[in-house]
Amino acid sequence: MSDEIEVSLLVVILDTNPSQRIIREDVHVLTQGMESVIAFANSHLMLKSTNRLAVLACHARSTQFLFPPVDGSSGQQVPTLRQLDGQYELFTYVEKTLRQNLQQMVVRDVEKIKAGNAELSGDSLIAGAIAMALCYIHRLDQEKATGTKMNSRILVVTGSGDSASQYMNFMNVFFTAQKQNVVLDVCSLDKELGLLQQGCDITGGLYLRVPQLQGLLQYLLWVFLPEPPIRGKLVLPPPVKVDYRAACFCHRELIDIGFVCSVCLSIFCKFSPICTTCHTVFKSPGPLPLKGKKKKIKLT
Ligand SMILES: [Zn+2]
Ligand SMILES: [Zn+2]
Repeated sequence: MSDEIEVSLLVVILDTNPSQRIIREDVHVLTQGMESVIAFANSHLMLKSTNRLAVLACHARSTQFLFPPVDGSSGQQVPTLRQLDGQYELFTYVEKTLRQNLQQMVVRDVEKIKAGNAELSGDSLIAGAIAMALCYIHRLDQEKATGTKMNSRILVVTGSGDSASQYMNFMNVFFTAQKQNVVLDVCSLDKELGLLQQGCDITGGLYLRVPQLQGLLQYLLWVFLPEPPIRGKLVLPPPVKVDYRAACFCHRELIDIGFVCSVCLSIFCKFSPICTTCHTVFKSPGPLPLKGKKKKIKLT
């Protein structure tokens, strides 16, 4: 037994983009998602007193920390709060902070739209949010006391589709996460997410598309609450078959076969004489050499 203290850091990224189909059809989905995330986050804190938490809201134009609040405090020191209904103070604090910050974010959005300098549409900046989470994890890792081991993971809860327009950003954050030993879990509320599946596969995390939104909290607690080392001992949904297609750098579309720059490994769906990434000039390919006719062996 080592006397190393193990700290589990969970960073939840909640997609709050109002242009998600499930939110457009029923606004209460956002509230319900938030409720589930609050209960899930508090369950994580309940498991061990050393467990730590961060929650990020991922929007179409920005990403923001909902918890810990961005006032410089590290979030684990609970300000003196009155106990409500006998609830543990930290839980009350998490719940209050999350609700308040999300509310402020929504109100700010509405004001911006009224002022006419923002629009509702746009992809959720999931790759950016993961990058922010990785930076946060890295900072805490640097600041941690000696003799502490930090196991970090990121959980993305989203109802948006993953667009190939963020392909490069996704790949960069996936490999950074892998290098930093950060596990990436993804909980999809709507569509199958091919790119994020790759991220889960690369970092050893779990991907799940929730079949029923009503059961969101149950799925979160069942699949994503256990720490990655324990998961092997549990009966969890079978892993999905990952679609490892890459997106071309010219149109950001997933392709099966493409041209690869031999210098920088950029992928293109059509031949171009100059690589747009590293500006290497290529000779234009001549007509493909005709294959010699197969010699027929005469059986005489
Ligand atoms: Zn292309
Ligand atoms: Zn190149």
